[in-house]
Amino acid sequence: MTNTTNSTDRMPINDSTLTSFDHLIINANLATFSAQYGFDIYNDNQSDNQSANQNKSTPYGQLENAAIGIKDGKIAWVGMYEQIKPHLNHYQSEQIKDVDGNWVTPGLIDCHTHIVYGGNRSNEFEARLQGASYQDIAAQGGGIVSTVSATRKANEEELFAQSEKRLLALIKEGVTSVEIKSGYGLDLDTERKMLKVARTLGDKHNIHVSTTYLAAHALPPEYKDHADDYIEQVCQWLPILHSEGLVDAVDGFCENIAFSSEQIKRVFDVARSLDLPVKLHSEQLSNIGASALVAEYQGLSSDHLEHLAEDDIKKMAASNTVAVLLPGAFYTLRDTKLPPIEALRKHQVPMAISTDCNPGTSPLTSLLLAMNMGCTLFYLTTEEVLAGATVHAAQALGLANKGKIEVGCDADLVLWDIARPADLAYQIGLNPIAGIMVQGKWRETV
Ligand SMILES: [Zn+2]
Repeated sequence: MTNTTNSTDRMPINDSTLTSFDHLIINANLATFSAQYGFDIYNDNQSDNQSANQNKSTPYGQLENAAIGIKDGKIAWVGMYEQIKPHLNHYQSEQIKDVDGNWVTPGLIDCHTHIVYGGNRSNEFEARLQGASYQDIAAQGGGIVSTVSATRKANEEELFAQSEKRLLALIKEGVTSVEIKSGYGLDLDTERKMLKVARTLGDKHNIHVSTTYLAAHALPPEYKDHADDYIEQVCQWLPILHSEGLVDAVDGFCENIAFSSEQIKRVFDVARSLDLPVKLHSEQLSNIGASALVAEYQGLSSDHLEHLAEDDIKKMAASNTVAVLLPGAFYTLRDTKLPPIEALRKHQVPMAISTDCNPGTSPLTSLLLAMNMGCTLFYLTTEEVLAGATVHAAQALGLANKGKIEVGCDADLVLWDIARPADLAYQIGLNPIAGIMVQGKWRETV
């Protein structure tokens, strides 16, 4: 189902352009997730519907028998393989990657993670399976408090070493951008340490890291019964960490067991005064107005959403806020309340999928598995979950130049040994990766 009306057919061919790329990917099938190539997930009028004659959309924005030209770390040209073929003699063989009909997608984006933390909570997993309740575990110093104390104790090098393993697992499956939250420090020094480790992970492994300040994650034991005083501290720490270049966005946990919408609003006001975008852990266990609050602040994303109401969905649609769905937490908690997928579709709210990698409710370091869970547990389509790990995940992080294959975007690309894009969400436990390019450079090891 090659789209014959896409813009590449109208693109003027300029010989000097076609001979000046740093790298070429040829003989490729592309899942572009770009509107320029017909990606329009809300348009039911897809191109295999022969009766449709206008506004056709192309699943995955796919473009077969195609090629990509890369220059200065960016996608400089996208077109048909036939167009570039006569110019291949201008290139050294090491500049050309013939992918032999395999598929290329944008680099995957994991837009909601807590991968930087100290300690290990498999003992709690064991205890719960032997009948211990969450209350029993909390009474013995378990739960989030144990992660906070292990994270506070670990020095920067130890925290880096523990977190790096989780990052590498994501990278091995084609993740080229990842969001990393703080929120297990709950004091200024440890929140800073977590954010610094997140930045260092990105630098060392040459992937994009978006950092998110999540000090409003839980109430630290030293502020028991003094949540308002703690929020005051959270508001004071934010400008300090922002001035150190450690904060790209601000998040909170708005829930009966965490912070009220009034408390989160105080943090958001500080974020707004610093021009920082906001997002929120919303409606996971109940609805106390979290998504409505995110929408009020034109937030990037509202995340979890099992208890989201349709009125709030309309507000998210109006504020262009992405719905980030986290099936790994739903699975781990054996939740039964599904997020309102049909209403999100109806109001055309972009949906992203993420691992929510964290030691308590989602110890998951596979975005491919999260995509499969999105289909199996949340009834999303394969196109929705792939868009949810690329173009919509980029939107959830405010990254306009990532998540799609389009001229001008960053050359973050993944090569897959698959027959169809749906294979990425269909297969469980198989990693069909065949190559990763970040900012125009092939990674040596995958
Ligand atoms: Zn989370």
